Amino acid sequence: MYPDVLLFIDGKWRPSLSGRTLPVINPATEDVIGSVAHANTDDLDLALEAARKGFAVWRKVPAYERAKILRKAGELMRQRAPEIGRFLTLEQGKPLAEATAEAMGAGDNLDWFAGEASRAYGRVIPARGEGIYQLVIKEPVGPVAAFTPWNFPVAQVNKKVAAALAAGCSVIVKAPEETPASPAELIRAYDDAGLPPGVLNLVYGVPAEISEYLIPHPIIRKMSFTGSTAVGKHLAAMAGAHMKRCTMELGGHSPAIVFDDCDFDATMKLLSGAKYRNAGQVCVSPTRLLVQEKVYENFVEKFVAAAKQVKVGDGMEQGTQMGPMANGRRITAMEAFIGDAVKHGATLRTGGKRIGNKGFYFEPTVLTDVPMDARIMHEEPFGPVALIAPFRDLDEVVTEANRLPYGLAAYAYTRSVKTATALADRVETGQITINHHGFALPEVPFGGVKDSGYGSEGGAEGIEPYFVTKFVTQASA
Ligand code: NAD
Repeated sequence: MYPDVLLFIDGKWRPSLSGRTLPVINPATEDVIGSVAHANTDDLDLALEAARKGFAVWRKVPAYERAKILRKAGELMRQRAPEIGRFLTLEQGKPLAEATAEAMGAGDNLDWFAGEASRAYGRVIPARGEGIYQLVIKEPVGPVAAFTPWNFPVAQVNKKVAAALAAGCSVIVKAPEETPASPAELIRAYDDAGLPPGVLNLVYGVPAEISEYLIPHPIIRKMSFTGSTAVGKHLAAMAGAHMKRCTMELGGHSPAIVFDDCDFDATMKLLSGAKYRNAGQVCVSPTRLLVQEKVYENFVEKFVAAAKQVKVGDGMEQGTQMGPMANGRRITAMEAFIGDAVKHGATLRTGGKRIGNKGFYFEPTVLTDVPMDARIMHEEPFGPVALIAPFRDLDEVVTEANRLPYGLAAYAYTRSVKTATALADRVETGQITINHHGFALPEVPFGGVKDSGYGSEGGAEGIEPYFVTKFVTQASA
């Protein structure tokens, strides 16, 4: 049904040296379904040595050959997606169709980065003297430490690993302890595709222990993290202290801006679907739904009705639209956010409570009239809660959209080209999607500004953080 998950170091699956494991819990039932090996520093030393050796081998493999291995791993992910999707749903909770699509999507991402490996051109700069060649060469930065979260356990690992390997780096990835089997199957696909030993290593353990050991370590040349802004700032400071390059994909509090002149029904369908996807545990989840005055009341009424219709249940059951939250911490967090908002005067339009007492189910929730002193107006809720508020005009809504230090994503709906252009220009985010939802495809850049982090994953930008630039100038002897 569900595997006991091991570490993968130097091309071998093995338990931790201490034999320690952590239990894995199905959030739909709270049953222990398996275990995951728990690395300590002795295991990390082995992974570091493997990554050092692996880098020496992999950097010399021609991009054309690296691309073939990545494409093969992508094919294997597509073939194995139904089984990997099942593991993902059992450990994380999301509906099976979404979990299987995530595993299938790994194939697209691998195809993209296979292509990027071959497109990593340098350049030739015209020289001032005869017989001189000035070359700019992209070289892989070196062994990478990657840290990824539990909300998209396959996709988050794959974004980092595929880009790093395409560039010629080796990787140690600390994947999420709570959802370990699906990312382990991704690593297995890379291994089965023919990756040399040591190039890709997988560990689990206490996140802070692992990051504090790996980031300062001289073998590691770059780190990449996806998770909360608070942890990201801590890790970025550590990386800075040790002069390590880093990519930070952090939290968000996305505004979704609905103008009077939008296609109302299409907007409603898009937004109600997006809000409750993965139980709101999505860094680009639309959180502040800002609706222009004329359509506000109608929007709230229809959105509440849509929230009530969402079928919450075990992700393994046919027809489930929203699974449980991924862990018990999210239930506590939701109760605290909503309790605090209501205490400060917010109106609870629907939801607001845990469902039952077995499994981490939470009601799709809508709050309106949320005052500025409520925590949820400032902190990322990371759950199935929509905050709906009215606005008058463009200037007012842009000010509200830009109010927070977050700058990950924004959504907008309008038939006016003038308004759409003004929003694209004035909203301070790394990405904005207008009149449709189009984030996070392999071929487009994904990343935040301000406290949402720096660096891009995806697109032509996605491979760049894994390169350093070398300048070579050469005259004929
Ligand atoms: P958390 O902040 O403790 O952990 C978030 C992720 O960071 C986890 O994967 C965890 O393993 C990792 N992490 C935590 N401390 C670390 C450290 N010192 N070194 C390395 N990795 C570390 O909280 P949580 O309860 O797991 O998740 C809740 C919050 O995390 C949410 O409110 C949300 O803001 C954020 N989060 C964001 C994303 C995202 O896609 N950006 C994904 C998951 C969680």
